[in-house]
Amino acid sequence: MRRISIFGATGSIGQNTLDLIARDPESYHVVALTGGKNVAQLAKDARKFGAEIAVTADPALLPELRARLAGSNVEAAAGPEAICEAASRPADWVMSAIVGAAGLAPGLKALEQGATLALANKESMVCAGPLVLHTAQAHGGRVLPVDSEHSAVFQALIGEEMSRVERVIITASGGAFRDWPLEKLASATPEQAATHPNWAMGQRITIDSASMFNKALEVIETKEFFDLDPAKIEVVVHPESMIHALVGFCDGALMAHLGPPDMRHAIGFALNHPSRADLPVERLDLVKLSQLTFRPACETRWPALRLAREVMQTGGLAGAVFNAAKEQALDAFIEKRIGFQDMAKVVEQTLEHVLAESDLASAAITLDNVRGADHLARETARALMLQHH
Ligand code: NAD
Ligand code: MG
Repeated sequence: MRRISIFGATGSIGQNTLDLIARDPESYHVVALTGGKNVAQLAKDARKFGAEIAVTADPALLPELRARLAGSNVEAAAGPEAICEAASRPADWVMSAIVGAAGLAPGLKALEQGATLALANKESMVCAGPLVLHTAQAHGGRVLPVDSEHSAVFQALIGEEMSRVERVIITASGGAFRDWPLEKLASATPEQAATHPNWAMGQRITIDSASMFNKALEVIETKEFFDLDPAKIEVVVHPESMIHALVGFCDGALMAHLGPPDMRHAIGFALNHPSRADLPVERLDLVKLSQLTFRPACETRWPALRLAREVMQTGGLAGAVFNAAKEQALDAFIEKRIGFQDMAKVVEQTLEHVLAESDLASAAITLDNVRGADHLARETARALMLQHH
């Protein structure tokens, strides 16, 4: 029996992970499940899967979680420290599916006890890629990508030599506004941005898909995960979302990974690695698909892509600043305090201010330094937004 924990169990990735676990319950022992505000779902799943402990991120919800778990053997806890404590409990396989920079610390704890970390939380790689990979190496743990593009690249690289890789192309659906005229973007609302043409995902990543901040994070994630020269990473808009990524080799071969837009493939791949197992995903009918289309990823429409290149060039803690500024701008957009296109402006200005006034570009990537950079970026972004509105 494999011991597994799921961080962010109540979210879109977490629920898809539990869907796979539920199909083969005898193979798994669930150690910890964590969630946020949805304690009803958390308690229900903790009971169903016989988890050792259920943790909500919100201490105010601990009494409700306790009440919902009354009479079961599931321990209840709350708060960020409790989440990290749960991540320290021995497990073989840990799903990191909290959204945002909050996913970093528990992921590191899981790696410190030698677990295999299935990483959906791309923010961990953006904020602290070298720290994540080094922690895995130091404790005999391993990191497997769950983001669909990175799982695709990982699979295309099996048996290959990195020195023979010429380029990596990750695809983007283009999100909710890919067919909107540019002039209309100024009036785009959070509700409109939160509808994705192909994927069913959490609200935040869906809006990030419309702004391409999601792809910007993924470009940085690609660089960190596969230790690639940024010049070798390309983005192409592919509205059908059937090809997730392609790897080009020095002999001109281009290996593509295709599959329906269903995260259970990438989650299941990480769950069964290094083997493969049957997964309940739709099989592609190429004749029915008939054609796949591609468009350039325009940096005027999606300035986030240009910012990602600048962040990679700067290095150090620029990724942590970028991500934190983006999280603040996204909050403000969701709360209708700024417009859709203001998000990229806030992030760009925050990067400029913070990097000009600090030595974060050359600072060591430690958890404390990442937290410091994150804090400074959030304060700066908030101040900038107050100034302008
Ligand atoms: P979601 O919003 O559906 O779920 C997020 C989970 O994190 C929930 O369980 C929530 O309760 C928890 N959470 C939120 N804030 C928290 C905090 N401060 N502390 C602790 N827990 C917190 O998000 P999602 O779509 O499942 O995405 C999760 C992660 O996976 C993100 O990093 C996202 O970028 C990545 N990802 C998601 C998809 C997808 O298809 N949904 C695909 C690729 C990558
Ligand atoms: Mg992705």
